[in-house]
Amino acid sequence: MAMVSMRQLLDEAAAGGYGVGAFNVNNMEQIQAIMEAARETSSPVIVQASRGARSYTNDRFLYHLMQAAVELYPEIPVALHQDHGNSPETCFSAIDQGFTSVMMDGSLLADGKTPSDFAYNVQVTREVVERAHAVGVTVEGELGTLGGIEDGVGSGEVHLTDPDQAVEFVEATGIDALAVAIGTSHGAYKFSRQPDGEVLAMNLIQEIHEKLPATHLVMHGSSSVPKELVDIINEYGGQIRPTWGVPVEEIQLGIRHGVRKINVDTDSRLAITGAIRKAMAEDAAEFDPRSYLKPARAAMQAVISERMRQFGQAGHAGDYDPRSLADMRDFYAGAAA
Ligand SMILES: [Zn+2]
Repeated sequence: MAMVSMRQLLDEAAAGGYGVGAFNVNNMEQIQAIMEAARETSSPVIVQASRGARSYTNDRFLYHLMQAAVELYPEIPVALHQDHGNSPETCFSAIDQGFTSVMMDGSLLADGKTPSDFAYNVQVTREVVERAHAVGVTVEGELGTLGGIEDGVGSGEVHLTDPDQAVEFVEATGIDALAVAIGTSHGAYKFSRQPDGEVLAMNLIQEIHEKLPATHLVMHGSSSVPKELVDIINEYGGQIRPTWGVPVEEIQLGIRHGVRKINVDTDSRLAITGAIRKAMAEDAAEFDPRSYLKPARAAMQAVISERMRQFGQAGHAGDYDPRSLADMRDFYAGAAA
C-alpha cells in the first residue's frame, strides 16, 4: 500500500465513528513501534514529524524509513503528516519530500512562539491549502493557541477556540481538519491536578462540531501521561514531577463529537525513557544499545496499541482501499468547481 492522504483516513474515521491517533516520530525504532502496534491492532495510522524531528532525522532518512514501513506493512493505511508547520515554506518543503498531509499552524507567527492575528492565520493557511490540494495533500489548520511548549513550538499562552470564528476560518481557508484549543497543552506538564470541566473545555468541541459537522477536529497535546509510565522513570532515577494528562475518557467523549485525529507524543517519550532507564539500571555492565532500545521499542508499541484500541481505530485497517494523491487532487478540484 502506498502512503494515503490523511483526508481519506479521517473521512473513513468519521464514517466509522472512531478517532485516529497521530504519533510523533524521530527515529527508526519509533516508526517500527507504531507500525507493529498498527499491525497488532489492525489499525489505520498517522505518523507525524515536527520540524524538530525533520531536522533531527534528515528528511531523506524519514522518507525512506516510511517507504520501508509501507513496503513491510502493506495492509496498513498510513499517512505521513507535518506536525506544526510554522510557515507555508515549511509545508511546501514537506510536500516536496513526500508527506501526504501538512499542518499549517498559523495561530503563531513563523517563529512558532508569537500568537498571530486572524487575518494572518487565514492568509497563510489559505496559501497552503491552494498548493496542497492541487497535489492531493491534506491540510490541518489551527485556531486558538494551546498551552505548553514542545519542540520549541508554543507561546505558553492559552486562547481557546471561538466556535463562530472557527466557522469563518474553515470557510475562508478550505482546510480538511481543524486543531482546536480547548485547554490542553503540549509536553508532560499539562495539568497540576486531575483535569475537569473547568480546565478542559470539552463543551467547545461539541459546539464547534455542531457548527462544522464536515470538518475533522484535531486534539493536540492529548497524551494521557499514565502514572505507571512516570513511576517507572522515577523509580530508576528520573525526576518527573507529579503531573496529569488528558484522561482517555475525555478523548473518547471528543471522538463522539467530531474529533478524528488525536496527537500523542509525550506518552511515547515516557514509555521509551522508562524502558531505557530500567534496562540500564538492571544490567549496568551491558553496553549493547540493542539491550535498551529493544525494550524501549516494545514499551512504545504497548502504549500505542492501547491508544489505538481506546480511540477505536483498531480493526479498521482493512476497511478500504487507498485513494491515490492524484485521485484526491481530482476530488478537491471537483469540490472547488
Ligand atoms: Zn501540537
